[in-house]
Formats: sequence, C-alpha cells, structure tokens
Amino acid sequence: MTPDRTGAGAVNPPAENAFVIRTAQLRMRFDHGEAEVAALRGVDLAVRAGEFLCVMGPSGSGKTTLLSILGCLARPTDGDYQLAGKNVTYVDEREAARVRRERIGFVFQGFSLVARSTALQNVELPLAYAHVSPSERRDRALAALSAVGLVDRADHLPNQLTDGQQQRVAVARALVIRPDVVLADEPTANLDADTAERLLDVLGEVHAGGVTIVMATQVREVAERGSRIVHLLDGRIDAEEQVAVSFRRVAGRSGSSTT
Ligand code: ADP
Ligand code: MG
Repeated sequence: MTPDRTGAGAVNPPAENAFVIRTAQLRMRFDHGEAEVAALRGVDLAVRAGEFLCVMGPSGSGKTTLLSILGCLARPTDGDYQLAGKNVTYVDEREAARVRRERIGFVFQGFSLVARSTALQNVELPLAYAHVSPSERRDRALAALSAVGLVDRADHLPNQLTDGQQQRVAVARALVIRPDVVLADEPTANLDADTAERLLDVLGEVHAGGVTIVMATQVREVAERGSRIVHLLDGRIDAEEQVAVSFRRVAGRSGSSTT
C-alpha cells in the first residue's frame, strides 16, 4: 500500500488516479471438493491510462481468472481491486453489473454478436442498456464502427460478415460505451493468422486513439503488440517487460493487407 496522501491540499487529483487499474495481493482459490486450486496467488498490478498491457502466460496460469476479476465478472477470494480510483472488489452483483455495463469493454473469444441484429444494432446494444437516447445511440455506434473501419457494413447481419469483420464489430461494441478499459481474453486464439493479424491491428489503432487495453495471450508475438508485458505463471506475476515502440512496429509483420 502506498502512503495516504489525502489532506495534502493538492488541487489536482492524486497521482494514484493515473492508474486505471490497481490491484493489491489478489488471490483466487477454487474448491474442487478435497483439492483446492489457487488460481491467483497475490497479484499486484497497476495499469496506467492509455497503456496496452498484455498478460502473457501458459494455459492454467490464471489469465482468465485475473481478467474476470478486472471485469467485475468474479470476486477474488482475497485482495483489493481499484478501477479508476474506486474500490470495486466486493461490490454487490447489482453494482458489479453497472460497472461492467458502463465502464468495461469486453472483447472475449467468440464474437457473441446477436445473429438477427445488424452490425449497427449490435454496437448500439450496450447503449440501450445504459438508456442512451436512440439518436445518440446511432451516432455513437456509427462512430465506433468507423473507428474499426466498418462503417460501410453497418446494415449487415453477422452472417454477412467475415470472421475478421465480426470480430471488429465486437471491438466496436466494446468501445461504444467509452470504457475505462477494454479487456480482451485471448481474442486471437480461434482466429486464422490473417484474421488475428487484422484484429491486432485494430486493437493497436484503438490503443493509439488513447484507449486503455488489457489483453491476455499465450503467444509471445501477440503479446509484443502491447506496450508492456506482464508474465503470469502459476497465479503469480513472474516477470515484466516494456515493449519498445520501434519493435512493436516491426512486430506487425508485413503482410499483404494494409487495412
Ligand atoms: P488461463 O486463462 O491462464 O488458462 P485460468 O484462469 O482459466 O487460466 O485458470 C487458472 C487455474 O484455475 C486453472 O488451474 C483452472 O483449472 C482453475 N480454474 C479456473 N476457473 C475455475 C473455476 N471456475 N472453477 C475451478 N477451477 C477453476
Ligand atoms: Mg484463459
């Protein structure tokens, strides 16, 4: 814990607020009858606004558990989680749902688009839940589709879109609420190499636009698309590295596509 700086008389928000995400000693245990699995064993993580953090680790290292807690989808067994300066660790389910709806953009595996709704309607959906007016919904959804280069497909149904385009609709849907953070759990795991590459390009563009992203992956080349890598092993942060900007550009392999 950092020293308490309240009462210092500062007009500006304290430096802590520069962190979108701050966790202290997050632990998660799962009961399996007799056996107990410790999925997280004390994770201290701080993510600054505008970072593209990649959580890299092998299967079973705790990535999904960590992202579930960061997304207020699960409560840790122990520890502390602050989202944009607010402790959301042990909020009740109603409040957790509100946090998810208003402050977190999810890009998980599988696109989970509504099949009978157009791209535009899919992107508008989170705003409908947030009771945004129909005209503002439409404007913001179009802007989000435009941010992922898909505005000309706004009226298409998911089955009229390629996998890559569906994934981009899912990214637009995550962005439309202007979330504090976008969480992506192995978003490229089920995509072919080309589609994965284009999704990573889109996430890179979104990040360049100022959005904070936390992405889990098992793949080094994927993790190197972020600005920082945190290595998770057996429920603990094992190592950490910055990714040089120059390197990141090289990492975007020169493929045929320039989208
Ligand atoms: P990763 O996403 O890195 O593959 P997970 O967070 O899914 O890792 O899993 C970490 C560990 O926690 C694994 O041993 C897994 O079996 C266990 N685990 C994850 N979720 C549950 C759950 N809901 N119930 C019981 N055990 C779980
Ligand atoms: Mg996982």
